[in-house]
Amino acid sequence: MTRVLVLNCGSSSVRYRLFDGTEVHAKGLIQQIGEEGGDAADHREALQNLMDRLDLSGLAAVGHRVVHGGERFTEATVITDEVVAAIEELIPLAPLHNPGALTGIRATRKLLPDVPQVAVFDTAFHATIPPEGVLWAVDRELTQRWGLRRYGFHGTSHAYVSRETARLLGTPVAETNVITLHLGNGASAAAVRGGRCEATSMGMTPLSGLVMGTRSGDIDPSLVFHLHRVAGLSVDEIEESLTRRGGMAGLTGANDMREVEQRLTAGDPDAELAFAIYTRRLREYVGSYLALLGRVDAITFTAGVGENSAHVRAAALAGLEPLGITVDEARNQRNDLIISADGAPVAVCVVPTEEELEIADEARKALSLPA
Ligand code: AMP
Repeated sequence: MTRVLVLNCGSSSVRYRLFDGTEVHAKGLIQQIGEEGGDAADHREALQNLMDRLDLSGLAAVGHRVVHGGERFTEATVITDEVVAAIEELIPLAPLHNPGALTGIRATRKLLPDVPQVAVFDTAFHATIPPEGVLWAVDRELTQRWGLRRYGFHGTSHAYVSRETARLLGTPVAETNVITLHLGNGASAAAVRGGRCEATSMGMTPLSGLVMGTRSGDIDPSLVFHLHRVAGLSVDEIEESLTRRGGMAGLTGANDMREVEQRLTAGDPDAELAFAIYTRRLREYVGSYLALLGRVDAITFTAGVGENSAHVRAAALAGLEPLGITVDEARNQRNDLIISADGAPVAVCVVPTEEELEIADEARKALSLPA
């Protein structure tokens, strides 16, 4: 079996998983890198310690999660010096995410010079979205000059769960249309026709679309001008507010859906309104993707909220019975894989996401290695 190490390097953390085929051989998280009392002084030291500890005999590949692949990287790519330079050029598009990945890639290439490494991009699955789903109706000169376009994120997760949904339904991927709802701390929706992504809710950055833990999701862009001109906030302050103090955190003070649900049960009106905004936005996206796809075989929930919150799933799809969408209460409460009624025209599914496994698979495929 092919042994693959998957690394997800953030600005101060390294998440790792070592696979033997599909078996997880080792996994963990190194935190607070570079911080006082943290696990390591820098990424190089963190990775060195990790590699000393792990049994890397027969390691065939390292797969790195990279958030932003820009226009150039539309599939998993074997890493060369030139690829590293290209990922570096994409930093302005993902200033919070790409630098961590780059540091990890550089350190790993030094530590394991003989092991091929592959970059797997969060944006790649969305490369099949047609131009009308990518571009906005703004001045085309600005669009072209500044590369204004939708990229979309969470692609590894949307790809994995849409394929798993087809497997669950026993239908070929190429003939299965799925709306995938990745609801974690970050959240996004995707419309997938026959295994190819046709629409997604995140945009040039991961700020647009669904309501998230701390991100606002869709807003009228004029809020930004108003907050600048009338409230006197700087652009940086507005960005900080929309990305870190928006979403459920902004509405309730708590970014964690578990806490919001507890407050909801206790009758807190802020939590009630926030929950209604969160689930209504989901219903709006589901409706718009139903219209885009025409025929939908399944709606699939995944990630922290999607996999665990029966309440969110039921509320998001409430009232859609005339469209063939039902949620069976008992199945929903049990977090069953299929939570719709038997024979319903649209299956409603709960599929745990496996982003690391998908990255390992993509790395193997990029190197033409066997599973
Ligand atoms: P992720 O980003 O996929 O790790 O998801 C993390 C988020 O999932 C947390 O911030 C919680 O809001 C949410 N979550 C995890 N477990 C539950 C649960 N049992 N019920 C509701 N939300 C949950």
